[in-house]
Amino acid sequence: MSMNLVLMGLPGAGKGTQAQKIVEDFSIPHISTGDIFRAAMKNKTPMGIEAKKYIDKGELVPDEVTNGIVKERLAQDDTKDGFMLDGFPRNLNQADALDKMLAESGRHLDAVINIHVEPDVLVERLSGRFICRNCGATYHKIYNAPKVEGTCDVCGHHEFYQRDDDKPETVKNRLDVNIKLNTPLVDYYQKQGVLHEINGEQDIDKVYDDIKKVLTNLN
Ligand code: ADP
Ligand code: ADP
Ligand code: ZN
Repeated sequence: MSMNLVLMGLPGAGKGTQAQKIVEDFSIPHISTGDIFRAAMKNKTPMGIEAKKYIDKGELVPDEVTNGIVKERLAQDDTKDGFMLDGFPRNLNQADALDKMLAESGRHLDAVINIHVEPDVLVERLSGRFICRNCGATYHKIYNAPKVEGTCDVCGHHEFYQRDDDKPETVKNRLDVNIKLNTPLVDYYQKQGVLHEINGEQDIDKVYDDIKKVLTNLN
């Protein structure tokens, strides 16, 4: 039984937050294209420098670049028994590319989890988001503060940062770009019969309960 998953949702819907919980319970690798781009930007690799031009404006990185990165990652051995993609695909071209990559290695998607949150809620979530500089765990100043103020729950570090693209000017464009692309993508997976809609406007633990139900019933 494979567990090949896609986690979908607009920026701020809670993909990263839920991904952290899913990988713990189901021990599959978490593949976040956003995380891969941020690591490449931090290390100033050629791909990172290229991606930064788009990310700083809240635009999508071109499909050739993004599809290539995912293809390379899915060729690695640790994805054999399952994986969870977070933030990919974001448009129909990427969805199509993904289906082809998987088919080439005799695989297919088992489930697409779409975390639904209304756009007006997302602005507030993104503006309060902060991240552990050491382990990447995601927090929110009101909705998901660390248990001990100033200390990461996961790794105990004390340094946090806010993402450049979470500033208000970029957030608006990011949301617009992604809202437009989201509906056709949802339809695409609906037609494939793999889509599961999750209400993302509940407490973090309740959202996870709903996701866990879906995943446990896949077997
Ligand atoms: P995404 O990866 O989809 O962009 P994140 O998981 O980073 O989203 O969540 C965005 C922000 O909202 C973070 O600050 C996170 O702590 C907070 N958050 C996540 N899920 C919820 C929730 N169910 N209710 C309230 N805040 C949430
Ligand atoms: P969020 O879901 O909070 O917007 P991500 O970390 O998934 O954030 O993505 C951050 C940025 O990285 C996006 O705004 C986009 O510029 C780029 N990016 C991430 N995933 C993709 C993708 N699948 N296709 C194109 N660009 C992407
Ligand atoms: Zn940490």
